[in-house]
Amino acid sequence: MPSILLKVRRPPSSAADHRPPELVKPVFRGSGDTDYQCGNCGSVIAASMGPTQRVIVDAVTCSACGAENEFPASLRP
Ligand SMILES: [Zn+2]
Repeated sequence: MPSILLKVRRPPSSAADHRPPELVKPVFRGSGDTDYQCGNCGSVIAASMGPTQRVIVDAVTCSACGAENEFPASLRP
């Protein structure tokens, strides 16, 4: 299963609320085989995305570390 690190647009404002990545659930889940991970902490933000699947936002805040991650153009509608 390939995994891709997302580009961090804005680093987390504070490290105080950092949670272990294993406790964090992906924001998006598809039916393919590519995982997209937070570029800061490595938590999976979009799991099992297929090649034709898209996300509806261009950026998402990682729920583990608070970093704002940018989705690549290929994932956007
Ligand atoms: Zn993160």
